[in-house]
Amino acid sequence: MERTPRANVELEKVSVVRKSTGAAEIVLLHEISFRAGGGETTTIIGPSGSGKSTLIRLLNRLDELSAGRITLNGDDITAIDPLLLRRRVAMVLQKPFMFEGTVLANLQRPFLYRKETPPGRESETVRRALGLARLSTGLLERDARSLSGGEQQRVNLARALINHPEVLLLDEPTSALDRPTADHLAATLHDVCRAERLAVIMVTHDLRLAEHTADQLIYLEQGRIVEKGAAAELLRQPQTEAFRRFLAEPAWEKETRHGN
Ligand code: ADP
Ligand code: MG
Repeated sequence: MERTPRANVELEKVSVVRKSTGAAEIVLLHEISFRAGGGETTTIIGPSGSGKSTLIRLLNRLDELSAGRITLNGDDITAIDPLLLRRRVAMVLQKPFMFEGTVLANLQRPFLYRKETPPGRESETVRRALGLARLSTGLLERDARSLSGGEQQRVNLARALINHPEVLLLDEPTSALDRPTADHLAATLHDVCRAERLAVIMVTHDLRLAEHTADQLIYLEQGRIVEKGAAAELLRQPQTEAFRRFLAEPAWEKETRHGN
């Protein structure tokens, strides 16, 4: 089996500064540096408003950085056409979004955007995406919007994976799901990351999800990295008082269900 990482995302001193309504500047992210490798999950956690969504949105250029550099396999992402970049760096959002129509139509959507012939229900492309997201082929003809939240999130995942991305971004993917469904999705993500050698970069409020999937953990506060390292070690032994306090907050579990 191929063991070399497929993707290598690197952030070097990435900052995001926005002008507020007055003349004052707000620093949303300050000199963020880390590397996310293929076959590994990098999990970003931190209080509400700490810049987690902004950080993840930089990686497929839904937001633009003010300083620093982000590279994908050594290439500056600003030099990559945004549409091609978003194919290589797929994103799954907090709340599943289903287009009108069947599950199959939802999976064919990315191809129609690109004016390519969409793969049929029996195609290897569709079967592979369904398999990775652990969806049964029996769902293909169902109205996507009639599915449960957990099933819809899996269709989202399948739709993200159908383009063979190198990087998968997830912003609180389980926050709209109940506990068992969230755990099931976490197990799926873990397997997909390993099997596809994907660089998974995920924001979550869900401690269980972080424990079960994270290889590297990044703790953000007010746009700055407070802790970064091997997830198992940091979760067992936080290095700072700030992170210790954060882990002890009951808000962890609450925000899992309500999102932010
Ligand atoms: P998180 O996902 O960790 O909750 P966000 O990245 O959504 O945090 O937001 C970080 C902070 O930046 C918040 O205080 C938010 O209100 C603010 N913010 C987000 N986008 C902008 C923007 N375009 N201009 C100014 N402030 C912003
Ligand atoms: Mg957010």
